[in-house]
Amino acid sequence: MKTNTKIIAIASGKGGVGKSTVSSNLAISLSKSGSRVGLLDADIYGPSIPRIFGVSGQSVTSRDGKSFEPIESNGIQLMSIGFVQTNNDAMIWRGPMLSQAINQLLFQTNWNDLEYLIIDLPPGTGDAQLTISQKANLTGTILVTTPQNISLIDVEKSLIAFRKLDIEVLGLIENMSYFTDDSGKDHHIFGKGNIDDFSEKHGVELISNLPILPDLTKYSDNGTLFDEFENLSVLNKKYEEITDYLKTRISKIDKTDSLDTIPVVTE
Ligand code: ADP
Repeated sequence: MKTNTKIIAIASGKGGVGKSTVSSNLAISLSKSGSRVGLLDADIYGPSIPRIFGVSGQSVTSRDGKSFEPIESNGIQLMSIGFVQTNNDAMIWRGPMLSQAINQLLFQTNWNDLEYLIIDLPPGTGDAQLTISQKANLTGTILVTTPQNISLIDVEKSLIAFRKLDIEVLGLIENMSYFTDDSGKDHHIFGKGNIDDFSEKHGVELISNLPILPDLTKYSDNGTLFDEFENLSVLNKKYEEITDYLKTRISKIDKTDSLDTIPVVTE
C-alpha cells in the first residue's frame, strides 16, 4: 500500500444514523473528484457496503493465499466482511474476535495505491472501534449523527473517546437534517439547533447538514448509488463541499500512514 494514504474513519454513536451511507457517498464523491479511494466496511454487525455498491454476493479472492484482493466497483476498492462470509447467518462477534476480524480486513487487503481509505466503523465506542482506530493510525475521524439529542448523547461519547486517544475529530455531519418539500420549503422533522450547540460546546466543526432523500435509500438498496449520484444534485453539491473541506483540512495534518509497517496477526 502507498505510504501516504489518508485514512479517515466514519463513526457514529448509534446505528441507523446513516454512517454507511455517508461513508459510501464520501468514497464516491472523492473518487469522482479524481482520487484513488478505498472503502473498508468495518461494520461487521451489519455490512451494507456490498449492497450499496451492487456487489453483494461476491466473494474475495486471494492471489497468494495470505491476503485478500479488494473488490473493485467503479474504480473504488472495497473490502467487507460481507465478501468473506457470504451466507446470511448473523454472526455473533465478541470483542477480541471483532477487533481481529477488522484488523485482518484492514491489513490483509492488497489495497492498491490509495490516496484515501474510508473506514465505515461499527457504531459505538467499544474496544473494537478504538483499537482499530489506533492501529490504523487514522488521519482523523468524522462523526455522523442525526438531529435528535438521543443520537448526540452517544456521539458525544465517541467524540470524547477519540480525543482521549489523540485521534483528530475532523468534524461532524448531521444526516437526515431536514426534508425539502415540493415547494422548496425545508422541514426540520427531527428538530433543529442541537447540532450547533454541540459543535460550539465541543469546538468541533459542523461540516455539513444533509437532507432526507428518499431516493438515497432506493439507490442504496438496489446498488445503483454510484450511477445515480450525479442525479441527486443537492447531495452531489453537499459532498463536493465536504470533500473540499476534507482535502484542505487534511493537507494541514502531517501524518502519513503505512499499513505495511503494522504486523499482521494471522492466527
Ligand atoms: P448506519 O450505517 O448508521 O447504520 P445506514 O447508512 O445503513 O446507517 O442508514 C440507515 C438507513 O437510512 C438506510 O436505509 C439508508 O438508506 C437510510 N438513509 C441514510 N441516510 C439517509 C438520508 N439522508 N436520506 C434518506 N435515507 C437515508
